[in-house]
Amino acid sequence: RLSKRLEKVASFVPEGAVVADIGSDHAYLPCYLVNKGIVDKAIAGEVVKGPYESACNEVKKEKLQNQIEVRFADGMEAISAEDGVTAVTIAGMGGPLIASILNKDLSRLETVERLILQPNIHAISIRQWAKVNGWKIVDEAILMEDDKIYEIIVLERGEEQLSEAELLMGPFLLKEKNEVFVQKWLGEIKQWQFILESVKAVMQTEPIKEKIIETNAKIQLVEEV
Ligand code: SAM
Repeated sequence: RLSKRLEKVASFVPEGAVVADIGSDHAYLPCYLVNKGIVDKAIAGEVVKGPYESACNEVKKEKLQNQIEVRFADGMEAISAEDGVTAVTIAGMGGPLIASILNKDLSRLETVERLILQPNIHAISIRQWAKVNGWKIVDEAILMEDDKIYEIIVLERGEEQLSEAELLMGPFLLKEKNEVFVQKWLGEIKQWQFILESVKAVMQTEPIKEKIIETNAKIQLVEEV
């Protein structure tokens, strides 16, 4: 059975999409999507030998070789325009890594209509990347599994204005403000306050003072929300 996290990622994949799952590891997500009949065709990309072999084995075990192609490639190099990929999923990595994978070769996204991204940390880098590159947030989710909190950001092409709070916490998540969201940001505030206290006790240099002011502003912003 798929994890609750990947099941939620899968729920954002449009029916009939041609999907590429980048950093697929065991290829659980593309196998699930094809087995459920949500998509007919998928590509699983992996850049590390071990996970690449796991993906090949899983696809073989599920007898899905006709529908899922596993490719050994770095990031978006796994796909090109001829594949006609319409949806890309990238899950289980840090936000900055996901953004750098997308940014490395923007032309690979030519046929792509929807990006479903699940950063483990620092989701703000994805929202920043989207804003700069002509993508807008059409949906978001936040969930907890095994005591870890995960965010999912769904992007389609378009422009949008995001406030500082929306960039940091997510426009849809902010509106919904569910229990997991509140828990996440109370935890972040606690961590920032702990760092501030530790730093204040030992250092008083100019750059540190600036960082303290910046962190206090961030705490205030999140507390207001
Ligand atoms: N997507 C799966 C999930 O969410 O459960 C696997 C997540 S796993 C923590 C991250 C995977 O991304 C690893 O298997 C790693 O090899 C792969 N990866 C990291 N950087 C990559 C890149 N530039 N291109 C392709 N795969 C990459």
